Amino acid sequence: MICLGIESTAHTFGAAVVEDRILEAEEFRILSDKKDIYKATAGAGIHPREASRHHVETSSSVVESALREAGLRVSDLDFIAYSAGPGLGPCLRVGAVVARSLASYFEKPLVPTNHAIGHIELGRKLLSMNDPLVLLISGGHTLIAARGEGGWRIFGETLDLTLGQLLDQLGRHFGLSSPAGPKIETLANNLKNSEAILDLPYVIKGNDVSYSGLLSAAKDQFAAGKSKESVSFSVQEFAFSTLAEATERALAFTDKQELLVTGGVAANQRLSSMLQKMCASRGVRLGVIERQYAGDCGSQIGAVGFSFFKYGQIVKPKDAFIKQSWRLDKVRLPS
Ligand code: AMP
Ligand code: MG
Repeated sequence: MICLGIESTAHTFGAAVVEDRILEAEEFRILSDKKDIYKATAGAGIHPREASRHHVETSSSVVESALREAGLRVSDLDFIAYSAGPGLGPCLRVGAVVARSLASYFEKPLVPTNHAIGHIELGRKLLSMNDPLVLLISGGHTLIAARGEGGWRIFGETLDLTLGQLLDQLGRHFGLSSPAGPKIETLANNLKNSEAILDLPYVIKGNDVSYSGLLSAAKDQFAAGKSKESVSFSVQEFAFSTLAEATERALAFTDKQELLVTGGVAANQRLSSMLQKMCASRGVRLGVIERQYAGDCGSQIGAVGFSFFKYGQIVKPKDAFIKQSWRLDKVRLPS
């Protein structure tokens, strides 16, 4: 079966054509994946209305180029999946309207999906992982989850900022544009050995992490004259260490033998190397999603679209919905 996946939760408008043989052995293939990312002005965050305007302006060319690269027309598709939430309302609405219009005009089944489960399903399919513990780290999420009876269960999460927000907000404080994670990583890598790690708060509460105090302390250190390189390096060390600690505890608790790392921040090499060491010491297989598919993209929505389609979660175009808050542990899925 072939599906068009449409993603529009935040800064990215994405469309992908993906294929899966869901009724036989799974065989997932990405036939095309196209995206256009809204760029906020330097020092500013994502503006929901402007991002949605970006999505309106780019949606038709993104969908068209995804279909062209796959060599298919809308009429060749078996169904259309879109990201129904969680995300920014004005942005979600654009994806829902595009998906609904295509489904209605071409009389195709329409499948609303959960964006977070999309990150996970794409990672599972690309890395051939059956039952992993998942570390989902992105602009919208920082959580540790595993599949339980009837859906996904959360074994740790951030109590305030996500890891992506921490890095993006630090970047904005430095006058950089969002998404700033890759620039913070470069700054951290450029630190000269002579500079020591800064004294910042290491906050972990139970199995949850908290980054707002870390961000405030990092801003104070910058104001006190520490270099961007030194602040970036230290923030990464503290934020990633707490997360690695929480993840190790969740591995011990769930006894999972695989760890899947997905979401935009999964592209960070320092975090991967920390997790690699931790997993090696426990004999756990680590799978980090490839950089190209780490951030928001249509393929993740296509990937989760197949699961939701299989469970019969199909709506009429007039019933297409969005949910700005839609935690993945609130999605009921058959075991
Ligand atoms: P997503 O919401 O999944 O599209 O992920 C976007 C988030 O990933 C943004 O907050 C980016 O700053 C962050 N990000 C992307 N690349 C990196 C990187 N190399 N290191 C850290 N964060 C990153
Ligand atoms: Mg995301």
